[in-house]
Amino acid sequence: PELINGEADIIFRSKLPDIYIPNHLPLHSYVFENISKVESRPCLINGSTGKIYTYAEVELISRKVASGFNKIGIQQYQVIMLLLPNCPEFVFSFLGASYLGANSTMANPFFTPAEILKQVEASNTRLIITQACHVDKVKEFAQEKNVQIVCIDTVPDGCLHFSELSQAEEADLPEVDICPDDVVALPYSSGTTGLPKGVMLTHQGLVTSVGQQVDGENPNLYFHSEDVILCVLPMFHVYALNSIMLCGLRVGATILIMQKFEINSLLQLAEKHKVTVAPIVPPIVLAIAKSPDTDKYDLSSIRIMKSGAAPLGKELEDTVRAKFPNAVLGQGYGMTEAGPVLAMCLSFAKEPFSIKAGACGTVVRNAEMKILDPDTGKSLPRNQPGEICIRGAQIMKGYLNNPEATKETIDQDGWLHTGDVGYIDDDDELFIVDRLKELIKYKGFQVAPAELEAMLLSHPGIRDAAVVAKKDDAAGEVPVAFVVKSNDSQITEDEIKQFISKQVVFYKRINRVYFTEAIPKAPSGKILRKDLRAKLAAGYPN
Ligand code: AMP
Repeated sequence: PELINGEADIIFRSKLPDIYIPNHLPLHSYVFENISKVESRPCLINGSTGKIYTYAEVELISRKVASGFNKIGIQQYQVIMLLLPNCPEFVFSFLGASYLGANSTMANPFFTPAEILKQVEASNTRLIITQACHVDKVKEFAQEKNVQIVCIDTVPDGCLHFSELSQAEEADLPEVDICPDDVVALPYSSGTTGLPKGVMLTHQGLVTSVGQQVDGENPNLYFHSEDVILCVLPMFHVYALNSIMLCGLRVGATILIMQKFEINSLLQLAEKHKVTVAPIVPPIVLAIAKSPDTDKYDLSSIRIMKSGAAPLGKELEDTVRAKFPNAVLGQGYGMTEAGPVLAMCLSFAKEPFSIKAGACGTVVRNAEMKILDPDTGKSLPRNQPGEICIRGAQIMKGYLNNPEATKETIDQDGWLHTGDVGYIDDDDELFIVDRLKELIKYKGFQVAPAELEAMLLSHPGIRDAAVVAKKDDAAGEVPVAFVVKSNDSQITEDEIKQFISKQVVFYKRINRVYFTEAIPKAPSGKILRKDLRAKLAAGYPN
């Protein structure tokens, strides 16, 4: 064992043995490594139109798109923004960027112009791929920032159509030398503190993460080529990008793409296409559990339901288990910076391990986990909660242009500190019990308090502010603000809510404003969020 200050570090590993993962390969070569076996099989089904793309088609279109990027002047290492809902073009563009050695940064298409601009500037985006209905939000700054716009549907003035990319000659694709350590995906995440930052995920990192989930001697840990995987979670979030799109491609499965979540069309499509694997998040689990229509559809094809991105209550787990007796319901635990999967439910395996309700899986293979006592920094034994830390080739390379934030998250021994509190029990199962970090999760979407606090403080009527999570039945958590008014300010709760709503995507809207005399702070100036959260938990302000 490693010695830390003379004491052995307590490290947890998967119950399954490590495996060989060919993480020297570029991501696109890795996901298509076994394509000859599945060339004519359906790879993508567009749920909105029913159009099917085979594996051979997806691979060819992606290479054409890479060549098209090159034709319009995009070069290796440059950044392309995917400002798209789930659609086949998302997949072609992401893979096309990978072939060219370029990077994809993903953004929520419902972001406001200000939110998009922030990410465009921070990531140095050179090209935005989007739908015509979002073009007005990016047109204002596109020329000034020298950003090209490609639309996948109609072509507003000044934009290119996606066919310019997808009909390029694949033979014109230049030879590029891609190193395992080159970045391929650049999602944005606020991590444990502060504003959203670019998370550098490399070819090696994503290949390792996908391999940890679906490679090895027990490939049925998760999916296989006969599976039809539902993709209703947004691909712009790394959970769907990695665990649905990349894992699905690697095993040669069929990916059923749904552009947006609506419970009845989900049930209908799942029945029609005989979905076998349904990766979901707690709000969808809730919708399925509550829907009176679930029983009208034959959903017996579903063998795996996997929930992640936020905690899933035991009661909800039990309800869904009762509704889908043929399906294994389990959780996965991810964090963008961790690549993102840290733990997954082993009962998805060919020879299932039994699992306990509430567990969010066991640590993935080819990785190490430890649980740190936040006060002493020492690693803790089983059944004692502490900060979850992970180490392995799958974690991020670091935050883009932000070595300080990187150093605060990945320590000198290579451990990524998640800011989540959990423990590992006697059967290697991980339970998450709390969150040390500031992050708020609304239906699994990230809300960074620092971003909202900066906006609040920019208002002349506000002297000080703090944003924390409040528990909410439907969303899991919602952001609420404690606000100290400036002298003589008459500002109201509604005015503050509207001031923020104009600037942010719907899930970052402030749910409640509590006016207060002072924000509790440590001598260092750090907001004592725990005190505020405790106040809310105790029923404040009533
Ligand atoms: P993101 O980077 O957006 O994926 O958010 C990562 C955070 O979501 C984690 O650090 C956890 O706080 C939370 N999270 C993800 N999966 C789970 C889970 N299964 N149970 C509880 N919290 C989770």
